[in-house]
Amino acid sequence: MKSITAKYWQTVGVLSLLLLTTIYLFFISILSNEVRTIKAMPPAISYELPPHQLSNANEQVTNLLFLDNLAQNSEKKLIIKIAKKDDNWLIVPLNYVLLNILLSVFYPILALLVFSFVAYYFIINYQRAKITNILSSMCDTADEIAVTFGQKQPNKKDHSILVKLNSSLDDISRYATQYKLEAEQSSFCDKLTQLTNRHTFLEHIEEQLTLDGDSKKSALLFIDLDGFKKVNDSFGHSFGDEILIQVAERLKSIVRSNKLSTSSGLEKNLARLGGDEFTVFIHHIESAEIAINIASCILTELERDFILGNKTIKISASIGIALYPESASKPSALVQLADVAMYRAKKDGRGIYKIYSPEMGSQLRRYHYLLEELRLAITSNNFYLTFQPIIHTDGCVISYFEALVRWQHPVEGLITPMEFIPIAEESNQILPLGDWILSEACRQMFAWYNAGMRKTKISVNVSVIQLKHRPLYNWVMETLAHTGLPPSSLMLEITESCFLDISEEIITELEKLRQEGICIAIDDFGTGFSSLAILATLPVDVLKIDKMFIDEATTSVKYRKILKSIIDMSFQLDLKVVAEGIEDIIQLELLKSLGVTYIQGYLISPPESSINVGTKVLDQGINHLAHNGAGVWQPAPSKITRHVS
Ligand code: C2E
Ligand code: MG
Ligand code: MG
Repeated sequence: MKSITAKYWQTVGVLSLLLLTTIYLFFISILSNEVRTIKAMPPAISYELPPHQLSNANEQVTNLLFLDNLAQNSEKKLIIKIAKKDDNWLIVPLNYVLLNILLSVFYPILALLVFSFVAYYFIINYQRAKITNILSSMCDTADEIAVTFGQKQPNKKDHSILVKLNSSLDDISRYATQYKLEAEQSSFCDKLTQLTNRHTFLEHIEEQLTLDGDSKKSALLFIDLDGFKKVNDSFGHSFGDEILIQVAERLKSIVRSNKLSTSSGLEKNLARLGGDEFTVFIHHIESAEIAINIASCILTELERDFILGNKTIKISASIGIALYPESASKPSALVQLADVAMYRAKKDGRGIYKIYSPEMGSQLRRYHYLLEELRLAITSNNFYLTFQPIIHTDGCVISYFEALVRWQHPVEGLITPMEFIPIAEESNQILPLGDWILSEACRQMFAWYNAGMRKTKISVNVSVIQLKHRPLYNWVMETLAHTGLPPSSLMLEITESCFLDISEEIITELEKLRQEGICIAIDDFGTGFSSLAILATLPVDVLKIDKMFIDEATTSVKYRKILKSIIDMSFQLDLKVVAEGIEDIIQLELLKSLGVTYIQGYLISPPESSINVGTKVLDQGINHLAHNGAGVWQPAPSKITRHVS
């Protein structure tokens, strides 16, 4: 701006100088012209003066006007000597000449001035129109920009273009400031809950821990909601989002009431890591007790009912705690280890907290190791089936065999299903594995069926993942058709807890399978917290009472009473009752006294290989098999006598 002004004044100066010089030269040229005309034709105003009455004119004026015949009369008035007449000088007053000149140039100059003004007026108007055009297009652009940011203030009609432009620019500036604030906010805040995000949280802990060194203890809580996926699946994601917002509010109030906010008052010690995962950093703690108290407080607070519209739901959380500096010294490692501890809390029953210990880390490593190995094992088929008989207490007639999968690992040896089935379920690898299990169990049973075991069934465990991801009816019927096994020789075992989690469509599919002659059993009954009322509505034929329940019933009267009522009710509903995990005669006698006639357990037999089953049933009980279409399975006499003695 300054340089523009300087240049402007420079140009104005030079132009003015040029103009003045031009006017001056113009004036001089007219003056000399006039003097020449006067010499040729003296005007009436000219008169004579003797030389003694004339003196020299001021030299500077003479030079300035380029007149060498300039003189002064006795009154000191300037005159021009135009000719010598006799002894006198014919003179003309300079005033007269100048007046003449002025009069002769006045009209052209006036015309020039008028023309200049008119030209100036048109040029200015043209420029103004041009600028107005540019300004109005700028104003439109500014309006468009303002509208892309948000709602623009409406322009007033009677306002000048500059005022409108100014208001649009104001809008842009306001929105840009707001946008900048929001961008800054979103770079360190989680959009949904407005809590600190993972990145900012980690940076914040890093700062705190660097200031402290190793001298002070701190703790990090990793909070994960239990069964949140179910909330999302059942009520939709926007409902889930509302719950997350409420969870964030409850956590905020705990952070505030426990004075865990940073000195600036911000809840930087509380963050949402993503999904249903939250974390709280507790700076400077005397002992782990403080972290435990806060974790308990969070658990209690999150167990309170969540109310949304007319819906009330209950959720809980699992919390993992990692301590600084014992567990880890880096923020990301603290989060990772607290996550490991949270994972343990989930496994140990949910709704609880766990403090990280190194042994948990090795479990997690084993988990990941098995996950990888499982993939390889499925492609190279390192599995085989074992079969455990379920017998009728009358004559030990085999009712069915439960097919139980085993993993023969090339290095680890035998890995139990208790360890790998949950991993296979979590990773969905149970799907290809389960396909193989069903097909192999049917193939084996068809071989036994052909050998005479026409009344014995094979029972296959089906996980909830399979129920949800396989087209149940088609999947089972196609496998049966493929292997040749009649539907009446197949039973499917579904864990009690799965029934809480499956849809109406799956129940309908199960019902269709039943109509084909396939039996459905509820497995591990008594551990899944389902109400007894579901027994009346589910499409099931067999109820398998869990080993834990039976173990308790031998020592607790209460459990015995509950067991009795379950058994009585099952009979009323025409369900077959199987007692799982019978290991001794006392349990057997108790169950018999309660009316249970189908028994499974080590007392009768552990799961056996197909070869052993073949030898025992087909070779030893061949007569029974021929008569009844079902083998018998006599427990080893040593077991019975040992228990009786
Ligand atoms: P489950 O279906 O309840 O199977 C019974 C489990 O109890 C078997 O364990 C069996 O060996 C064990 N058991 C039977 N009698 C006794 C006894 O008297 N005492 C004791 N302590 N245990 C007894 P296993 O084979 O280790 O299987 C464990 C669980 O793994 C099964 O429980 C089932 O839930 C799952 N599983 C096993 N095989 C399969 C399979 O092929 N598919 C699926 N989806 N799950 C399977
Ligand atoms: Mg089972
Ligand atoms: Mg079971």
